[in-house]
Amino acid sequence: ATLRIDVVTIFPEYLRALDLSLLGKAQRDGLLEVHVHDLRDFTHDRHRTVDDTPYGGGAGMVMRPEPWGEALDHVLGLAPDRTPTLVVPGPGGDRFTQQRAHELAGRDWLVFACGRYEGIDERVVEEYSERVELQVLSLGDYVLNGGEVAVLAMTEAVGRLVPGVVGNAESLVEESHEDGLLEYPVYTKPASWRGREVPPVLLSGHHGRVTEWRHAQRIERTRARRPDMLPHGQADRGSPG
Ligand code: SAM
Repeated sequence: ATLRIDVVTIFPEYLRALDLSLLGKAQRDGLLEVHVHDLRDFTHDRHRTVDDTPYGGGAGMVMRPEPWGEALDHVLGLAPDRTPTLVVPGPGGDRFTQQRAHELAGRDWLVFACGRYEGIDERVVEEYSERVELQVLSLGDYVLNGGEVAVLAMTEAVGRLVPGVVGNAESLVEESHEDGLLEYPVYTKPASWRGREVPPVLLSGHHGRVTEWRHAQRIERTRARRPDMLPHGQADRGSPG
């Protein structure tokens, strides 16, 4: 089963990065299918206008609903044998997490709608949430200029979970955010660099002790950097009182 991804944007060039590296190889291997559409192809005026001033006043421009309607009608008709999930990136959406990435990796078709300016006319979200499964997803609590970078991040996180995309499936299991703990620190050759030594246990060849050490490191790191990820009560274990 392949994952089909369609992206609607006014900057198709932004998405060229998806042709590189692992996701590029996944496309060439037929595990992933990516189609990028220029929103301006669905305008009808000489200037290929996609935005206008906001009703009610205020700063900035808003994306007009008509080109979005035409573009999404077109794109959603492209793969009748698949079930689309429409993803609209936005700083006001549900947080995109590893769990969400797993969910989306199980779908057969993701359609991304990249907003720009002050965003897309709200009626577009209303209209399509009645027609397909629609998720507004946020990368985090900060504001980007457009949805393209969010789509790159989400597509990369989702794409690497598609079976076969990452050669060694085991490398997916021990990662940060997979099981509620951050990843342990990793080292490679040389064993000594600028007077800094690789932790001796890793050179010991004792598999059991390595596993133990790594697990302890994961807990320690998570407690230090992301106590919010630990169950209540565990985050401050070890501190006095
Ligand atoms: N006026 C909007 C607001 O305050 O919610 C922000 C619009 S932002 C400048 C333009 C576009 O960037 C959004 O429509 C969305 O596509 C994208 N974007 C910005 N921040 C994002 C985030 N944290 N996660 C996902 N997409 C984001």
